[in-house]
Amino acid sequence: MFFVEVVLPLSLAKTFTYRISEAEFYFIKKGMRVAVPFGKSKMYTALVIDIHQNKPNLYEAKEIHQILDEKPIATETQIKHWVWVANYYMCGIGDVYRGAFPSGLLLESETIISHKADAAVNPDELSDEEFLIYEALQQQSSLKVLEIISILNKKNILPVLQKLIAKDIIVLEEEIKENYKPKLVRYVRLHSKYESDSGLNELLEVLKNASKQKEIVLAYFQISASEKKPITVKKLVEVSNSTSAIVKALIEKEVFEEYYLQHDRVSFDGKASKKRLLLSQAQQTAFEEIKNILLEKEVCLLHGVTSSGKTEIYIKLIEEYLETGKQVLYLLPEIALTTQLVSRLRLHFGDKVAVFHSKYSNNERVEVWKRTLENSHKAQIIIGTRTALFLPFNNLGLLIVDEEHEQTFKQTDPAPRYHARDAAIVLANFHSAKVLLGSATPSIETYFNTQIGKFGLVAITERYNNVRMPEVVLVDLKDKHFRKRMTGHFSDLLIEEIAEALSLGEQVILFQNRRGYSPVIECLTCGHVPHCQQCNVSLTYHKHKNHLRCHYCGYSIAKPTHCHSCSSIDLTTKGFGTEQIEQELMLLFPKAKTGRMDQDTTRGKFGFEKIIDAFKNREIDILVGTQMLAKGLDFDNVNLVGIMNADNMLYHPDFRAFERSFQMMTQVAGRAGRSEKQGKVVIQTYNPNHNTIQQVTMHNYAGMYKEQLYDRQIYKYPPYFRIIKLTLKHRDFDKLKEGTMWMYQVLSQNLNIPVLGPEEPAINRIRNEYIRTILIKIPQNIPLVVTKKTIQKMLNSFESVAQYRAIKLIVNVDFY
Ligand code: ADP
Ligand code: ZN
Ligand code: ZN
Repeated sequence: MFFVEVVLPLSLAKTFTYRISEAEFYFIKKGMRVAVPFGKSKMYTALVIDIHQNKPNLYEAKEIHQILDEKPIATETQIKHWVWVANYYMCGIGDVYRGAFPSGLLLESETIISHKADAAVNPDELSDEEFLIYEALQQQSSLKVLEIISILNKKNILPVLQKLIAKDIIVLEEEIKENYKPKLVRYVRLHSKYESDSGLNELLEVLKNASKQKEIVLAYFQISASEKKPITVKKLVEVSNSTSAIVKALIEKEVFEEYYLQHDRVSFDGKASKKRLLLSQAQQTAFEEIKNILLEKEVCLLHGVTSSGKTEIYIKLIEEYLETGKQVLYLLPEIALTTQLVSRLRLHFGDKVAVFHSKYSNNERVEVWKRTLENSHKAQIIIGTRTALFLPFNNLGLLIVDEEHEQTFKQTDPAPRYHARDAAIVLANFHSAKVLLGSATPSIETYFNTQIGKFGLVAITERYNNVRMPEVVLVDLKDKHFRKRMTGHFSDLLIEEIAEALSLGEQVILFQNRRGYSPVIECLTCGHVPHCQQCNVSLTYHKHKNHLRCHYCGYSIAKPTHCHSCSSIDLTTKGFGTEQIEQELMLLFPKAKTGRMDQDTTRGKFGFEKIIDAFKNREIDILVGTQMLAKGLDFDNVNLVGIMNADNMLYHPDFRAFERSFQMMTQVAGRAGRSEKQGKVVIQTYNPNHNTIQQVTMHNYAGMYKEQLYDRQIYKYPPYFRIIKLTLKHRDFDKLKEGTMWMYQVLSQNLNIPVLGPEEPAINRIRNEYIRTILIKIPQNIPLVVTKKTIQKMLNSFESVAQYRAIKLIVNVDFY
């Protein structure tokens, strides 16, 4: 008898045994996919992780439907890594498998398939089976795989479907088909034939009888003398007070050449692509240090202040690893940042750069998957968000985790709830590869690891090009209110600074952290605030749509005209969010163009990219935004950053609140003054003497680290303790309360470590489910693996108690 051991893409910890024939036994290899039946009528794409001859004891092994691959599409190292992720983060290996594979490679009976609207199909080029499916989808716009199976009366259809997907004839229902095209900006430069010394005379000769054109050319020289940047047609027209028609005439005359560039963080001169990158002295030193450290250590942290040019150092390092033929993985915290980085890296590495993240279409993701597996030169550098970690690398040499402190590296839902930085370090270990972490504001955990010698540390304390660190000015809101120097949420000082920046043609960034601080409608008579029906949270007022909306479940109602509790019509708005700031700005600076970057304006596809582009292209003067602004964006015309209210970040109930506030403010501040001029940051706060605010003002990372580390030790938090957070949910309040108490008691009786709770979170009901949490703190000195095993046992016994079975249990290891 012959068997395979497979992983199913389901939230299950177990693997399953299926029967195969002898011929299949000699053909199948670990890492191939097989279609298997499961349950009564389901079919899944399973992954083979072992081939053996041990009959399962507990059940009769079913036969596989069919083998889906001719050679493995997952590597053994990859599977080993998944097993680690599943064990460490206490989830099923099936969770990891499901999260790792692009869904195009994971077809199952329930997958919904539809025909692609604009597909050019030549029926003659389709096989009979392909044609049948194609035809079925003409009659019905979408079908489940299961339905197609019954139409064709044939089990083995997955390979056919895959061919149709690859031919771009059918798509999976969830697909995003749109592709973002960054806006191109039009530039001109002097035609190369006038570049020589005698060129100027020739040029004057050409323009002898065209005074309007001559003016433009003179303006061109004037601009290029004062700033060493490429010149946009827009700017040229503005400065010369002329029209684009005349510029066009000059282009036709071959005095100017036009070219288009994507406006991004690359500091280009229009021909930069072939230039070799020159590191500054500080960058060069850091680069050499990193190389030396990586000879001995597996991980190195590059702690470089904002705008120190960390990316340039990454590029240099990547160059060296590429020369040895190794693969490089570059992780970013946010999909929206990839567009900028990709174009920056493509300048150096051309088509060796591949991108992988969840907004890419299935076909693109499958393509990158295959290239990675084949070690293709077209995927030597993979840029991606955390899921890129699960690609089938076989020759990985270097992993870069940029902005390593970012919270988005930790997955919250669904499982696996892994931290990409930590999982990257383990992956590197399996490949004997090296890891470079980069940040201007490293996480306490990472910095701690450098202090105990586990990671190497390299610091850059100066900004590139000798730009000075921004000056931070504190505004005491209490005092300003007292002296009536506030207009809405703006202090007189901030207004003055904005006015000055605008008068100099500079752009401004205003930061308003909205977490837990959204505008609500309050009744002035009885104090009633409308709440969501399904979640225990107040509804947020959206002036633009004139409705109230729940940020947790999306429930919304029209703005009430009277109080639902006492019928009074005396209603007022309380609190302020980005939207209100924008409204106030329009009154304060009616001529300025404002833009807003928050969850509402960036929700649509590519909303984030569009706003960034508009800001870079200077279509927006003042950009108001939430934490998204803090994520490593590079704008060259911003010298003023305003932080509207520092306090609501500081007082968030979370042991990382001070660390995060420091990181967020420092990062936002870092957007100011990235070109020659020193930037300015205005922080409005009720607590100008708060330690964290002082640390931001003095750019004192070391002070913040020391203080926070001390607190972490006293209050038993990371890096001294590892935290596992259990979240339990149920619609029945009493049952949840009882079940959580049971869980808590079992844990605290059997574990000799701190177990806290059960606690009711501030928002204790979401989508009609009540929520309770338990926190387990594991000290560094006790063996983690053993403790987790014990915990797992107790979780299992909880799940076997009949009356608690319906309670949802979420395990979050290293909770962030
Ligand atoms: P960080 O990521 O450290 O905040 P960046 O890598 O974004 O900083 O660099 C800041 C700016 O300085 C960018 O516009 C970048 O192009 C420029 N820059 C940094 N180093 C160099 C270099 N060696 N040569 C040219 N430009 C550089
Ligand atoms: Zn809700
Ligand atoms: Zn009322």
